[in-house]
Amino acid sequence: MSGPRPVVLSGPSGAGKSTLMKRLMKDYEGVFGFSVSHTTRNPRPGEEDGKDYHFSTREAVQEGIDQGHFIENAEFSGNLYGTSKTAIEDVRAKNLICILDVDIQGVRRIKETDLNPIYISIQPPSMDVLEKRLRDRQTESEESLQKRLEAARIDMELSKEPGVFDFIIINDDQDRAYEELKETLNDEIQKVQETKP
Ligand code: ADP
Ligand code: 5GP
Repeated sequence: MSGPRPVVLSGPSGAGKSTLMKRLMKDYEGVFGFSVSHTTRNPRPGEEDGKDYHFSTREAVQEGIDQGHFIENAEFSGNLYGTSKTAIEDVRAKNLICILDVDIQGVRRIKETDLNPIYISIQPPSMDVLEKRLRDRQTESEESLQKRLEAARIDMELSKEPGVFDFIIINDDQDRAYEELKETLNDEIQKVQETKP
């Protein structure tokens, strides 16, 4: 595929992926584009359909998967999530760096494609900090929170395996982690900026 290399941001729910990504997209307007996934979970307050996710029914997403419209999909915390081919093509058509926010299953599935992204894992400093962030975010029921913590334990183990991620960023202090993320993406950012008039 042509154009700048996409970026996969992964890591446990609550690690800070969305926070760091939104900062990046705000500071570098016209450089990054978000791959809008489909999900069967309900929108959180403030989330917009078509911007944060395509909020869909399981039937609709499953039909799209069956028809080969998705590059990957995964079950996470009782819901179906997936990246459609269109989500990526929309961003790449604008010659932007495509950012994908996917779980560890998505990372594995994307490795089987020809997308060739930079794989970055955003990790919390500890499970205790992660739990506090998820609770303070006040978006999850106790059941959903427990499922996310269980998935986080698995994620934190699997992410350590050599070769899974190109970069692992510990999101302890937000400003520090953001600087590290910017530094990691510096070459790709420059390449896109050089092509802009
Ligand atoms: P994710 O997208 O990985 O699920 P979020 O970006 O929603 O995670 O972050 C989870 C919560 O933690 C949010 O309420 C966010 O404001 C907060 N948060 C993110 N990064 C930090 C940080 N470095 N220190 C403290 N709180 C943070
Ligand atoms: P959340 O419900 O907190 O928005 O996302 C839950 C988890 O699903 C996160 O780990 C996030 O990275 C992951 N996720 C979001 N979209 C996708 C997707 O399209 N594919 C996969 N595999 N995971 C996704």
